[in-house]
Formats: sequence, structure tokens, C-alpha cells
Amino acid sequence: MLAERLQQARKSAGLSLRALAEQVDVSAMMISKYERGVSTPSSGVLLALAGALGVRVEYFFRTASVELERVEHRNRHVWKLPKSAEEKVLADVRDQLERWLALYEVIPAPWSVEFTLPRTLPAVIEQLDDIEAVANRVREHWDLGLNPIPDLIDTLEARGLKVFTTRYDDERFEGMSAMAGDHHVIVVGGNWSGDRQRFTVAHELGHLVLDERLTDGIDKEAAANRFAGAFLVPAEKVKEALGERRRSLEARELYILKHEFGLSMAGWSYRALDTGVISKATQRAFWSLFAKKGWKQKEPGEPFPSETPRLFEQTVYRALGEGFIGESKAAELLSISVHELAARRRMESVNGDAGQ
Ligand SMILES: [Zn+2]
Repeated sequence: MLAERLQQARKSAGLSLRALAEQVDVSAMMISKYERGVSTPSSGVLLALAGALGVRVEYFFRTASVELERVEHRNRHVWKLPKSAEEKVLADVRDQLERWLALYEVIPAPWSVEFTLPRTLPAVIEQLDDIEAVANRVREHWDLGLNPIPDLIDTLEARGLKVFTTRYDDERFEGMSAMAGDHHVIVVGGNWSGDRQRFTVAHELGHLVLDERLTDGIDKEAAANRFAGAFLVPAEKVKEALGERRRSLEARELYILKHEFGLSMAGWSYRALDTGVISKATQRAFWSLFAKKGWKQKEPGEPFPSETPRLFEQTVYRALGEGFIGESKAAELLSISVHELAARRRMESVNGDAGQ
């Protein structure tokens, strides 16, 4: 157990055998022996390893180990994330998920919500336009109405999805979705603007909802994008905001709507096209304005505020308050020191969000 966990923590910290060895003052060969279970570190070395890797000693002995079955990746560009960066992301996600599972072991069952999808979703989706109705059914199933979703991560967490932001924010990593046992997992880069994060999270939700239902002719990415747009702004709302039919769109208008719905200006132009409010030519004209002004890279004005998961940390404090766990267990779950936990409990240190 220790061997495997040590290797996981080292990879997650992005350290080579040699780099870790230098920090804890043993040979790289010795670290390799620990990782193969050939040798066991003394308690002093264990403490040093924990310190160097930014984990608590308990981490090495935690039993829960999860396997992530990847569903889909969303990278910033066409090329794939380098293997080493991907490993870091996966190790971080595994760590966050394991802490959730450890928390589940000590809290009452009713505190956790099971992720469900509406039973009435079509088994087969043959065209992109059908996805509008699917997104509406999911909204209905979760009592979301048609209005803007104020905090998407919070909303999905409350419906049983595990949503994580990752601190290893390689700039090419946007997000991914995965299954871990029965858990539906969505991961999003922590440093993106809120509109970008929300689109990624909704896109990944699209993969979870749609991938099994698409006929061969439909591109999975196009389908997930369509779902994301439709889930963030239902067609009815697009028409209410923009009108049934438009000859052109005003950038300022889309900027205001971006801040109302948490969907980028670019996203709005695609929603207008997908719902038939503007023609392909109008969308193209708008898009070339975007390119000319450099707005494809960075949209003008204030960015939409980014989001962060809060349910895990909140639940740890709930469990602490109700006496299901003590301070030491709470600190372990949050990956902070008991001292820091005590300060946070007294509201003297309010930084930190579940060990991010
Ligand atoms: Zn995708």
C-alpha cells in the first residue's frame, strides 16, 4: 500500500526519483526500493517524504484507491496533453476523489446524493438538433427551470456529480470526464475564466449524458458542444433575449448576456446560429470581427468570475460539527495541518478550499 501511494504522490508532485531523493536525503535507488515495496522507510524518512511531497503521513496509509475510467478529454488545442502533465492531473483527481470516498465512510448515507439522469432520454440521438430537447429534459429533471444557472459547479455537485478543479493547471488542460466506480467525475482547469470553465463543465456533462446514445454519424465533440450551449442557455431563452430572427448581433449586447448567463460571447454567437436566430453568413461575419479584434484569444471587458467546488470542504465541517469526525480526521481529509484546521475553525484563517 505504502509503495503504491508513495509513487502516486511523487508523480502527482511532478518529481523524479532523483529530485525526491535529494529533498529527503536518501539515494534515488532507495526511493525506487520504497516504491517497489522492497524496502520500507523509517518513520523519520516517512515524515521527510510527506513534507517533500506536500501530503500528510496518513496519505501513505489510506486504503481507498480509485481507478479512473476516462470518458473524454477537452484540451485547449488539437494536440494532446503531454503524458507527464496528464499523469499529474490524474493523480490529483485520484487524490481528491479518494478523500471524498474516505469522507463517505464516516458520514451518514443521507448526506450524499446519487447522480441520476431522466429516464425519458432518447436511447438513440440521430441529429444535433435533438440535443436541444435532451438538455431541456436534464434541466427539468434537476429542477433548474430555464433561467441562468448561477453557480454551475455547485449546482452539479448538489446533484451528485463529483466536480473537481485541478491545481495542475497545464494551460492546455481544459477538462475531462471520467467514471470511478459508480461516481461520475468532471474535472476542469482551476485557472480559467468562469465562462470558459462553465462551458467545459457543461461540455463534459454532455459527454456523460450523450456518448452512449449518439449514432455513428454524429461527432462526439460537436454533440458535447451543442449540449453545453443548450444546457447553459435553452433555445427559448436565446430567442427571448435576442429575438426570433436577427440580421446582425452587437458585441456589447452579447457581453451583457455573457454576464447574465455565464456563457461566452463566442458561445452566444453559436447559440444564435444553432437556434436559427442568425444565418451562417451572419455568424461568420461576427466571427471574423472576433478574429480581427483578438477576441478569440481573450474576450473584451471583465471576465466572468471562475467557480470552485465547495461541497467537499463544507461536508467535512458539517461532519466535524456533528461529531462524526474529530479535528485530526478533518485535517487529514482537507490535507491541512491540525493547526491550520483549528485556525480555520476559529475563522482566523479563511483561505483554502478543500486543500486546493
Ligand atoms: Zn469533449
